[in-house]
Amino acid sequence: MQLHFLGTGAGMPSKERNTSALVLKLLEERGTVWLFDCGEATQHQILHTNIRPRKVEKIFITHLHGDHIFGLPGFLSSRSFLGGEDTLTLYGPKGLKEWITASLNLSKTHLTYSIEFVEVVEGVIFEDGQFIVKAQLLQHVIPCFGYRIEQKPLQGELLIDKARELGVPKGPLLGKLKNGEDITLEDGGIVMSKDVTAPPKPGFTIAILGDTKYCDTAKSLSENADIVVHEATFDHKTEHLAASYGHSTNVEAARIASESNAKNLILNHISSRFLPHDIENLLNEAKEIFPKSFIANDFSQYDWKNGQLIED
Ligand SMILES: [Zn+2]
Ligand SMILES: [Zn+2]
Repeated sequence: MQLHFLGTGAGMPSKERNTSALVLKLLEERGTVWLFDCGEATQHQILHTNIRPRKVEKIFITHLHGDHIFGLPGFLSSRSFLGGEDTLTLYGPKGLKEWITASLNLSKTHLTYSIEFVEVVEGVIFEDGQFIVKAQLLQHVIPCFGYRIEQKPLQGELLIDKARELGVPKGPLLGKLKNGEDITLEDGGIVMSKDVTAPPKPGFTIAILGDTKYCDTAKSLSENADIVVHEATFDHKTEHLAASYGHSTNVEAARIASESNAKNLILNHISSRFLPHDIENLLNEAKEIFPKSFIANDFSQYDWKNGQLIED
C-alpha cells in the first residue's frame, strides 16, 4: 500500500499546492487505486505520476466544497478517453450524483464505463473480503465525512514442510489449506488449515479525514489507526479562527493523533498563507505533541511496509 498526495492545499490552488486529492494505491492488494477527493486539475497532477486513471476503482468524496470536487467531471471524462471500462464507484454526500449527472449531461459527455453512485451515510459504506470502509460526519461548515479504511487480517502463509509431514501431497490440496479450508486425505485423515498455516497478520488501518474542526468524530475515526491523514489549515497563532471556519490547526491535528493512539500522522490541506519556510515550524509544533508527524507536499509518497510508514 502506498499513499500518493496529489493536492495538499486549502481552499484555492497555489503554485506550490493544488487543491485536495489523495491516492491510496492498492496495487499489490487488489490491482487498483482509490482516490480521496478530486480538486480542480487533479487530472493534471496525475499526468506527473505513474497513476493510471483506468485503475481508479473507487472515489471517495469528503464534502462538496469546490476545492474537493471541481476536478471530478474532467477526471471522469478523461478516464473514458484513457480506456477505462470497469465500473467506477463514487461515494459522497447527498447532492454529488445530481451535480455529476448535470455536468456530464449538459456537456454531452458520454462515458465508456458506468458509475455506481453511493450516497454516503454514517456507518459501513463498503465491505468485501479484503477491506471495510466506514464513514462518519466530521464538524465542518457543510456536511463532511471522514473515512476509515481497515484492511482485514491477512491469511498466514502456508507452512509447507509441516503440511508435507502430515502427508499432504503436492497439488491443489495445499492451495485449499492455504485458503483456510480443512481437507481430507485419501486415507481418510483430516488436516486442519490452522495446523499448517502461520497465524493471520493484522491488516492496516488508515483514517482519511476531510475538512473539520477539532472534534470527537475525528478521534473515533482515528482510534488506533496506523496512519491518520488530518487537515491543518491553521496554526496556533491563528487558532482563534480555525474552529469558526470549521478547520483545525496543526497542533489540534497532532492532539487528535495522540489522543486516539494513532501510530502516524500526515498533515495536509495546508493554507497558502504559509510560505515554504513556515512549513518546518508547522511540522515541529505538531511533533512536540505527536512525534510521528509528517507534512505532505504535492506528490509526496508514503509507503507502508512491514508495519512502518516510510516517506519516499
Ligand atoms: Zn477544503
Ligand atoms: Zn471545506
